[in-house]
Amino acid sequence: MQQFQQYIGGTFSDGSARFESRDPATGQVWAMMPEARAKDVEHAVAAARAAFHVAEWSGMTASGRGKLLIRLADLIAENAQTLAQLETRDTGKIIRETSAQIAYVADYYRYYAGLADKIEGAHLPIDKPDMEVWLRREPIGVVAAIVPWNSQLFLSAVKIGPALAAGCTVVLKASEDGPAPMLEFARIFDQAGFPAGVLNVITGFGATCGAVLTSHPQVDHVAFTGGPETARQVVRNSAENLASTSLELGGKSPFIVFEDADIESAVNAQVSGIFAASGQSCVAGSRLIISNTIKDAFLARLKEKAEAIVIGLPDDMATEVGPLCTTGQRDNAVKLIEKSVAAGARIITGGRALDREGIFFPPTIIDCSDAPNAPCLTNEFFGPVLSVLGFDTEQEALDIANDTAFGLASGVFTRDLARAHRMIRGIRAGIVWVNTYRAVSPIVPFGGHGLSGHGREGGLRAALDYTKTKAVWLRTSDDPIPDPFIMR
Ligand code: NDP
Repeated sequence: MQQFQQYIGGTFSDGSARFESRDPATGQVWAMMPEARAKDVEHAVAAARAAFHVAEWSGMTASGRGKLLIRLADLIAENAQTLAQLETRDTGKIIRETSAQIAYVADYYRYYAGLADKIEGAHLPIDKPDMEVWLRREPIGVVAAIVPWNSQLFLSAVKIGPALAAGCTVVLKASEDGPAPMLEFARIFDQAGFPAGVLNVITGFGATCGAVLTSHPQVDHVAFTGGPETARQVVRNSAENLASTSLELGGKSPFIVFEDADIESAVNAQVSGIFAASGQSCVAGSRLIISNTIKDAFLARLKEKAEAIVIGLPDDMATEVGPLCTTGQRDNAVKLIEKSVAAGARIITGGRALDREGIFFPPTIIDCSDAPNAPCLTNEFFGPVLSVLGFDTEQEALDIANDTAFGLASGVFTRDLARAHRMIRGIRAGIVWVNTYRAVSPIVPFGGHGLSGHGREGGLRAALDYTKTKAVWLRTSDDPIPDPFIMR
């Protein structure tokens, strides 16, 4: 059985305890993971705090940090196959996706490497003739980064990359579900040449590891990706250390198709939008909002495609939908579907967990026309389940799209340019994809509204979120300071 170790202060060690990791494709235990508890968290935060101040890191030039990040990107690319295989093994995410995603993860680190020496301060046109004032951009300090299991290498890259580019140090808590790729990532990181303690990678349970980390007095910023309920706990915990937070949370994203859309293209985008990653994607287009004039024809084509999807083992390149990562995910889908059907929703295809080894749930489509308040329209499944509602007018489509507590992503399919612009303006979400879906890039900010969280990852400004300004005042006059009792 494979054994993994945590990475603290540049050293690999066992955690205070260990726990089993199961292969979602078989349900069998395949590896033992280090479990970080309070003592390990203390150790990791102390290592990050020490590294933040050590001259080797705090005195390193920005371009020096950029060069180290480039080296890291190269190492990720060299080790891509191992990382992809481990992510597939431990989370059930199909090898087609993990292989493609890990190649892009290296590009994300390259992007942040390039940003390191572009984090600039400013000289201010101060309203006092005898003063010079400028702003220094300084790293915010020790960052606690917390990621869920669904795309850990990717979701950690958008935190570690900008944080290190800015000169921060990081304690990353991998999810207890599927942490293997992050612990292997630590081995690769160790070869890149960063000073010890600049990145520390631990894994453990929410209450005994995550909560200790996010409330730690030596943590300055918490970068969290996960569900809204955990985010609330993280925000409560961060009241202890008054750390700033960025929250990348879930979604119930609308996928709107007008009657003039390229139907085949929209069907394909919808298949990818909801069934890729077995629906375990924060930006899953999980609410199809479709013009009633084409609803029946569209659903017939979508059903055909959904039923043709190859369900199989995640390490098989032919597989299109693999297992869910945890039994909890499956049980949640089963429960929400039962409640939705009881509320009047109609299953078009799928709807039941597959009776086979592993945690498999088939692509599922539910017509919610007669169940306007059903959970399938309000709750995030984080599984391959698509809810469908028809509309008659553009305004109705917009109202349905915005009838959600989330606001992460959205898709609009139409050939009418003016209408596309009206929808772009009207939709409350951090992303609008027009005639496409699920495109991402390090260059583009990513984040949401409402229950989808706050803060943006990606893009130029992401690195600035890991800095604080220091205002420097310098008096240029040699005259004595006038009246000391008047503030000027
Ligand atoms: P959770 O919120 O359950 O867990 C996220 C992370 O938080 C895990 O590492 C978890 O650890 C940790 N955690 C749990 N409790 C605490 C605590 N009290 N304090 C600190 N950390 C804690 O999310 P899921 O794992 O279920 O992931 C799915 C969610 O993530 C979905 O809502 C999805 O939409 C969202 N997501 C958002 C993305 C975005 O960028 N907007 C991207 C991907 C997913 P442990 O696993 O050990 O419990």
